[in-house]
Amino acid sequence: MTTLQDSFGRNIEYLRLSVTDKCDLRCSYCIPKGFNDFEAPAHWLSFDEIERVVAVFARLGVARIRLTGGEPLTRARIPELAQRLRALSGVNDLSLSTNATLLSRYASDLFAAGVSRLNVSLDSLDAPRFACITGRDCLPQVLEGLTAGKLAGFSPIKINMVVLGGENEHEVERMVEFCMEHDFILRLIETMPMGDTGRNASYVSLQAVRQRLQKRFGLIDGVVSGGGPARYLQSVDGSFSLGFITPISQHFCDTCNRVRLSADGILYLCLGQEDTLDLRSLLRDGIDDAGLEAAICAAIARKPERHEFKEQPGKIVRIMSQTGG
Ligand code: SAM
Repeated sequence: MTTLQDSFGRNIEYLRLSVTDKCDLRCSYCIPKGFNDFEAPAHWLSFDEIERVVAVFARLGVARIRLTGGEPLTRARIPELAQRLRALSGVNDLSLSTNATLLSRYASDLFAAGVSRLNVSLDSLDAPRFACITGRDCLPQVLEGLTAGKLAGFSPIKINMVVLGGENEHEVERMVEFCMEHDFILRLIETMPMGDTGRNASYVSLQAVRQRLQKRFGLIDGVVSGGGPARYLQSVDGSFSLGFITPISQHFCDTCNRVRLSADGILYLCLGQEDTLDLRSLLRDGIDDAGLEAAICAAIARKPERHEFKEQPGKIVRIMSQTGG
């Protein structure tokens, strides 16, 4: 099988596929309140276009696809897209990142369509604080969504919590206990300076939080498969895993294995750089599959070595939901 390798010897085998830049939440560190600069739906890749691009990536050895956004479940007919992508030769892992507000409605259809793993964003278990961070008073819906996800059979389910100083930082112990109780993997995430919202978020280095939680819960170093950026601790019996995604305090670019395709068909070679390939224009100008393959390989060859979130925090103007988080 072909493999996609960048100029730093990293194999690219994972595509994060945004299906919309819109979201039904307004997390304080992501989409600004009143933001209206969303991409015109006419610019969104159609399901046919997405299927074609993913088939080409799969032929190039990209076996793992994650549906994301914006909030992917706000795009109509997502289970249908999931089923079409999972059926492609070479795609052997299809996962979803969601805020779970609509998950109770879609969980069983998504699972039946072949989505096997779920990441759910959950920054607080306290309803007023959840509403304050996300701009919407809907914690019960999210918890219902999680229950539905579990019942549908998703495994593992990972909870992603962005840690915000002075807001939810003191809640991390409670979140660990919640995830232990429900058999969820927890990942704590440092805020990234994407857009003014990301830059203005109250950044907390997770190094001290890691030490605090390791001691409090008696955790040991661990590994969770998936090739992602998180560094893990585990309970001694292995039943609970806690990951730390630390783009600022300890970046992980040397093991980066991914690229991102935005809803409007722009391939982002690095979350924290401007290097892109406009796949939508190529597709709509009638490029054939061989041309598409060549263009993708050439783009991967210029994947940047690393982001510069720490050195150049003012660099990235676009917010996370525009790239596909
Ligand atoms: N709506 C889906 C969800 O909630 O998982 C997928 C898209 S969302 C943009 C993906 C992840 O990016 C979420 O976990 C969110 O908390 C995170 N995120 C957004 N902006 C961020 C920022 N500036 N720094 C760190 N994480 C951010």
